[in-house]
Amino acid sequence: MIVPNEIADRILAECLNRPQAYRELQWLCDNVGGRTSGAESGNRAEEWGHRFFTKWGLENVRYEELPVTIWKRGSVEVVVTEPASWSLTAMAHGNAPSEADLTAEVLDAGHAERCDFERLGDVVQGKLVLCDEGVAEGHRALHRTEKLKFAIESGAAGLMIFSSASGGLPRTGVCYYGEAPIVSMGISQEDGERLKRLIAGGSKPRVRISMRNSNASGVARNVLADITGSEKPDEVVLAGGHLDSWDVSQGATDNGLGSAIVMEMAHALAAAGRRPKRTLRFALWAAEEIGLCGSHAYVKDHANELDRMCGVLNFDMTGDPYGYWVPGRREKHPMIASLADQLSGIGMTQEYGHKAGLHSDHQPFMLAGVPVVALMAKLEGEGGHYYHSVGDTFEKVSQPALGRAAAVGAHTMWAIADAPERPFARLTLDEIEKMVDEDDLREALEAEK
Ligand SMILES: [Zn+2]
Repeated sequence: MIVPNEIADRILAECLNRPQAYRELQWLCDNVGGRTSGAESGNRAEEWGHRFFTKWGLENVRYEELPVTIWKRGSVEVVVTEPASWSLTAMAHGNAPSEADLTAEVLDAGHAERCDFERLGDVVQGKLVLCDEGVAEGHRALHRTEKLKFAIESGAAGLMIFSSASGGLPRTGVCYYGEAPIVSMGISQEDGERLKRLIAGGSKPRVRISMRNSNASGVARNVLADITGSEKPDEVVLAGGHLDSWDVSQGATDNGLGSAIVMEMAHALAAAGRRPKRTLRFALWAAEEIGLCGSHAYVKDHANELDRMCGVLNFDMTGDPYGYWVPGRREKHPMIASLADQLSGIGMTQEYGHKAGLHSDHQPFMLAGVPVVALMAKLEGEGGHYYHSVGDTFEKVSQPALGRAAAVGAHTMWAIADAPERPFARLTLDEIEKMVDEDDLREALEAEK
């Protein structure tokens, strides 16, 4: 057994039979709800994390501050004026302009990929671009920031992305790093489909938009806690998840769930009563939703410690785990195979992924070459449907899946932290460049600049 029975038994008992974090997540969802880093709600959430790390016996429980811009949603009114009159169910994207008043014609831009804008050419100028959330088959998935960037470059007056989820559920999410120069919003699937039908039938729908938002400067905090290693305390295995969420919901699946998994792992490993050789560190990241600010700040502030980071686990909307994802590491390490074998009774298989991806808090670590060891997991139920919409509430969180993810995560941390030799080396700059090219990340990374 890669994780000894005395430790494994305790982890399983704590995560599955005596879980703590699910109940505390309920408190967070109901009593704090949406959590904006730097705002009062964000502060209260950070204190929640600090309180339970302390209560459960973690060491060096601390805050690390970072400056953030606090984007605050104001009002948005979106009314179709021709050929029929109705109000769209719309939600501004994060970092949308603080003030915008305009009327413009709507243009169907398909998926709003680069090729869509090339096909449409000059007609995009001054129009409101309508698109869905997807891309054409075989194309690289696009983040909404990339779609907005193409729209800006094409001279569009604004961007409307309609939801892939039915039920009058527009989605929010960051659209630009800094205040966006043109309006950007999510609208409901039903409104998007109606506009598309009208355009296909030859109509030229016009939409009147009035939008108000505000920006302020603030300070957010990453919350950190340790179990100090017994032999190599300077070498660290870290598990983190972002604590902030969008304002419109309770942020239950995104990412109260991941935060609770990290908390449960911390609770179980503290209860295990024995220290592994290396230090275990737990992190609740701030301001992920507006650009991975908390994890970026950590990587920057601790640059001289990255050589001694032996593994980083990230939990973001993590469902029921079934495999390992170790980006940039083509060969499955024998430790990973042994862990999956030991954990087969709670759903782990030998499935293995290594294709690197972006847009969560593993990213700054991965691009610094720090080994990222994450879980492939299936988000069951409705969590995905309500992503970034008003429906992301506590009832969607599966307690059994949360417990299993925490148990697998805790075993994984222990195995890396107690191994005689570090299982994963830090990638060299050349190896990082190779990963970026092979896994087709270059263009998406350019869009972040
Ligand atoms: Zn998230």
